[in-house]
Amino acid sequence: MFDYLIVGAGFAGSVLAERLASQMNKSVLLCDKRPHIGGNAYDYYDDAGILIHKYGPHIFHTASPRIFRYLSQFTQWRPYEHRVLASVDNKLVPFPINVDTVNALYGTNYSPAEVEAFFARVAEPIKHCKTSEDAVVSKVGRELYEKFFRNYTRKQWGLDPSELDASVASRVPARTNYDSRYFTDEFQAMPLHGYTRMFENMLDHKKIRVLTNTDYRDILGEVSFKEMIYTGPVDAFFDFRYGKLPYRSLEFKFETHDKEVFQPGAVVNYPNEHAYTRITEFKYLTGQQHPKTSVVYEFPQAEGDPYYPVPRPENAELYRRYKALADATPNVHFVGRLATYRYYNMDQVVGQALATFDHLRESQLDSSTVTVAA
Ligand code: FAD
Ligand code: UDP
Repeated sequence: MFDYLIVGAGFAGSVLAERLASQMNKSVLLCDKRPHIGGNAYDYYDDAGILIHKYGPHIFHTASPRIFRYLSQFTQWRPYEHRVLASVDNKLVPFPINVDTVNALYGTNYSPAEVEAFFARVAEPIKHCKTSEDAVVSKVGRELYEKFFRNYTRKQWGLDPSELDASVASRVPARTNYDSRYFTDEFQAMPLHGYTRMFENMLDHKKIRVLTNTDYRDILGEVSFKEMIYTGPVDAFFDFRYGKLPYRSLEFKFETHDKEVFQPGAVVNYPNEHAYTRITEFKYLTGQQHPKTSVVYEFPQAEGDPYYPVPRPENAELYRRYKALADATPNVHFVGRLATYRYYNMDQVVGQALATFDHLRESQLDSSTVTVAA
């Protein structure tokens, strides 16, 4: 009898397995239907010997010292600040939009104050920003919206920005300074030996048993456990009782090139050309030295592995119905990006898993207090 069956060996499942085993001495069976641990953060060496991310580029960043400290128990870090170029008007320009982006596109020589004035001139006043279109045009106006956001978003989500919550495009700021970093969080770094190694260290505990290639449904009749932590898609758990919750998928096309460098930066976004959204060259992220280089193209898809929850009001409404079912399911805890239908980054999932652990520990303390009192 295991104390916990944990479904999914990504960040949500692995953090909880680690905490429950090491801090509460619980026995854990951690299963994943994929042939590996790490969930979407899984990385491995390809045939050329280059470290690549199987499910697209994963760049770690967090503002939380607690989350960074927690993960630092399982990995050393390589400092890395992510930068992105966008291919617009036949130029490669910094993205998020900053002072250099505006000057490169318009042939101007604006100062930060002049870019601020420019944005103020072109921005459309919108009182309550509800959609991703609102979020962008209210900051940088319609022309920059159309150059950088409209078509990328339509490709990525199969929806117009006017059909998506403001929170989606608001992940990307517009800047009136020269900062060309994609993120501004205090902690920005990549696991020195990769994500998979970090997960291996997390799960290396005598109370944790890992079963890959295992769908939890196939072992339900064979293993006994007291509680379950579920990190897969919430609609699948309930056999799609209320219909399918939309998740956006991607197809990845990997290439290895017989040259040291393929493109001038880690990621190049293609808002307006091609069926793919972006190309990532992994060696920039990992710092690996190698005479060849591997890249990945991302082609958004409606069907396939569920990667992104789709933030828009009707989906939030459908999710609320599934959440009510989840809340009413005893001894099963739903955690992570798919199980709570949230467009979370890795650090947010770690934070959510640590909060769930705190809650589980407190409720056990409460129940043991009750037992003693009784
Ligand atoms: P997952 O990693 O999806 O893990 C869930 C696991 O459950 C999966 O391995 C799945 O196989 C398993 N599972 C599902 N159903 C079953 C079942 N029935 N039985 C057994 N196992 C099951 N975040 C960042 O912070 N920075 C980035 O740069 C970044 N880039 C990203 C790029 C892409 C293309 C994508 C898709 C995501 C990116 N993310 C990034 C987000 C990041 O991947 C997630 O926040 C994080 O991996 C979510 O962890 P999780 O454990 O919730 O889910
Ligand atoms: N986006 C865009 N153009 C870009 C980059 C991003 O329109 O060049 C929008 C798009 O809707 C995207 C969202 O901003 O889905 C969030 O971008 P982010 O880079 O955070 O996406 P992720 O890395 O999670 O795929």
